[in-house]
Amino acid sequence: MRMYDIILKKRNGGILSREEINYFVDGYSRGIIPDYQAAALLMSIYFQKMNEDETADLTEAMMNSGDIIDLSGIRGIKVDKHSTGGVGDKTTIALTPMVAACGVPVAKMSGRSLGHTGGTLDKLESIPGFSTELTKEKFIANVNNFKIAIAGQTANLAPADKMIYALRDVTATVDNISLIASSIMSKKLASGADAIVLDVKTGSGAFMKNIGDAFELAQEMVKIGNNMGRTTVALITNMDQPLGCAVGNSLEVKEAIETLKGGGPEDFRKLCIALGSHMLLLAGNVETEKEGREKIKNTISTGKAFETFKILVREQGGDVNCVEDTDLLTHSKDIYELKSDRTGYINKIDAEEVGLASLILGAGKETKDSIIDHSVGIVLNKKMGDHVQTDDTLAYIYYNDNQKKENAVKKLKSAYLIGETAKPKQPLIFGMVNKEGIKRL
Ligand code: URA
Repeated sequence: MRMYDIILKKRNGGILSREEINYFVDGYSRGIIPDYQAAALLMSIYFQKMNEDETADLTEAMMNSGDIIDLSGIRGIKVDKHSTGGVGDKTTIALTPMVAACGVPVAKMSGRSLGHTGGTLDKLESIPGFSTELTKEKFIANVNNFKIAIAGQTANLAPADKMIYALRDVTATVDNISLIASSIMSKKLASGADAIVLDVKTGSGAFMKNIGDAFELAQEMVKIGNNMGRTTVALITNMDQPLGCAVGNSLEVKEAIETLKGGGPEDFRKLCIALGSHMLLLAGNVETEKEGREKIKNTISTGKAFETFKILVREQGGDVNCVEDTDLLTHSKDIYELKSDRTGYINKIDAEEVGLASLILGAGKETKDSIIDHSVGIVLNKKMGDHVQTDDTLAYIYYNDNQKKENAVKKLKSAYLIGETAKPKQPLIFGMVNKEGIKRL
């Protein structure tokens, strides 16, 4: 087999065989196939697309390129949750204790920030002492004893995806549905969960900017998961503005804690309840979605979800005092109020621009070696559809460096569109996909 022939076949619109896909993944991960040939194939895939079988074969090849985590030592049905990435998405932090408080084991492997989107591990590390580096034994023991553990992905989880993703990142081949679906699902399938709930984001802050593409991506991933024997469902959710109000590590942890205690922004709370009810359904913990929603709400009102979060923090070395009193979490030196320069309705808060403004402040990594500042970020004071008067505060900017603040203000201002009339309110959840098909809400 020759890489040249594989590139030529795909460039001309051919269908790659399982052997050809395995040859590429294996050869590229072993350094035998050079970047320029891998990049040429990725660009051919980008334009010619892949069919269902090719996407499934690519997923399996990348999944098998590294460790397959064995979670059979954990009692019960393990349900994983994965978001395709968004701004202000602190869902894992609040949702996993809610689900664990219902008795469902949560063995969560999370990632770090990527581009304009934040990472769960970075957010949790704003709690002093909190460690996401758990041995496999400790990870499994914590889930068995306390129903919950959150760890970083091991370096050897789908390593071929890591290499191919890095190449896609610099060759403008990220936003292809088959490539995204196989990238995400190779890691999810290697992580060992029995069932998977996907949160496929769509809108200005998501990889999938339009709803049609998000449904297509969801269908692709649901098919792969179910064909591999893991019951998989996807919710298609709104990322046209940041989720909740807080964007930035300790600010998001604070908002997640407020939500666990029964407060927090309405959209964020609703999303946690919706995703949680599907996790309970897949775990066989409830019979209906409605029952699931009631059960999750109950964990909030009884304080059980918050108690479970405190156990998670304690067991992973974090300072529980900071959870009980979030004023003890790291905070920035200064806060700047971004004011509205007109009266009207907020028609747009571009989530990607908000994510980039937060990145400029230091909440994410601009380069591989940047050090994350956990204390900085943005808290929205108004959301889309709200009416504002001139000089009303649109957002609070938490900062430590004046120059970074000036740059972030410019970026944040460009995220807003304020009009004379209100635009119709968008739904939070556009629909769901399961093995029976699509259900639009
Ligand atoms: N997240 C991933 O893990 N892979 C992609 O391709 C896109 C988002």
